[in-house]
Amino acid sequence: MSKIKLSKSCIGADEKQAVMSVLDGGFLGMGKEVQLFEQELKAFIGTDKEVICVNTGTAALHLALLCLDLGVGDEVLVPTLTYVASFQAISATGAIAVACDVLESNGLIDLEDAERRITSRTRVIMPVHYASNASGMDGVYALADKYDLRVVEDAAHSFGGTRDNVKIGCKGDVICFSFDGIKNITSGEGGAVVTSDDKLAGRIKDSRLLGVIKDTELRFLGQRSWDFDVLNQGFRYHMSDIMAAIGRAQLSRFEELAVQRCSIAKNYAAAFKKMIGISFIKLDYTNVVPHIFPVFFESSDIRDSVKASLLEAGIETGIHYKPNHTLSFYKDSCSSFPKAEKLYSVMLTLPLHPSLSSKQIDMVINNIETFLLGARK
Ligand SMILES: *Cc1c(COP(=O)(O)O)cnc(C)c1O
Repeated sequence: MSKIKLSKSCIGADEKQAVMSVLDGGFLGMGKEVQLFEQELKAFIGTDKEVICVNTGTAALHLALLCLDLGVGDEVLVPTLTYVASFQAISATGAIAVACDVLESNGLIDLEDAERRITSRTRVIMPVHYASNASGMDGVYALADKYDLRVVEDAAHSFGGTRDNVKIGCKGDVICFSFDGIKNITSGEGGAVVTSDDKLAGRIKDSRLLGVIKDTELRFLGQRSWDFDVLNQGFRYHMSDIMAAIGRAQLSRFEELAVQRCSIAKNYAAAFKKMIGISFIKLDYTNVVPHIFPVFFESSDIRDSVKASLLEAGIETGIHYKPNHTLSFYKDSCSSFPKAEKLYSVMLTLPLHPSLSSKQIDMVINNIETFLLGARK
């Protein structure tokens, strides 16, 4: 019996052809493909903002924070229920990641809890679009206004979704996407920063290429800087043409991939709505392109048993995420995060990727239903 995977890249002939073309062209670095990918992302999002591609979503977050001049002594509010990438991007700047609790209903940052953690050193709030859900952003921006904070949105889950009838990335301060292998679209590895702050965008563009001033502009002209200057610490965070070629092929298949993802999530939602002992985040899939589908059980024992029983049936599951305040490096033993810990103890992430068949989805649903019915006997 073939295993049902939790997540999987969905790569076809177009991506392979695109990579072959770059390989045949003999230039693999950051050039025309990256320039085109950035232009196409801009058009897709429907924005005048700058779109800057980098080699991972983590690098996008790191550069966004760093180029906001964040450093030692500064504090960033971030929900504890996120991938450790959000926390690492913050601590890489020298700033402190101030973990915040989340809402029990959807895992998004709890703004009342966040507000209590604001100090004179708080500079940025980093909301995470957990499970592709960008609702709650109005509240985030209102809080940011009140305390004069910058907003860096971790939109790694939500590429292609909409907020207030425009694509995510269109509105807002600084929005960071991930194109890693299993996200809504992939460039193999990759990420992007979207911002209308031109000064910030300029710094991010230089910083991804070791801080070499205006190197992006020259590379897009097919040239290189020989006599150059550097003003800031930079990194080798640029995207290569190989990655951009994969990303462009994926972007042109976006509708197909998004329809698959939405249809799987809708099937799960319709089935679990009728079951006792399981809950999930209610989302409107006309606005959301789901990256993950977490569900919640009545106890951690039941969750563990369901996980084991699914695994026995060849169905892989995950847990998104272990709260960051419980990790040794980010330990916060002075405050409590009851809602994030509660969610963590009962959550399970179900398989969700475009190549799942409806038969496989039914298998996942039936296995859970059978288990829950058996547990109630
Ligand atoms: C995937 C992800 C990232 C980081 O993206 P990479 O491209 O893997 O570096 C950041 N935050 C969240 C919530 C993610 O899921």
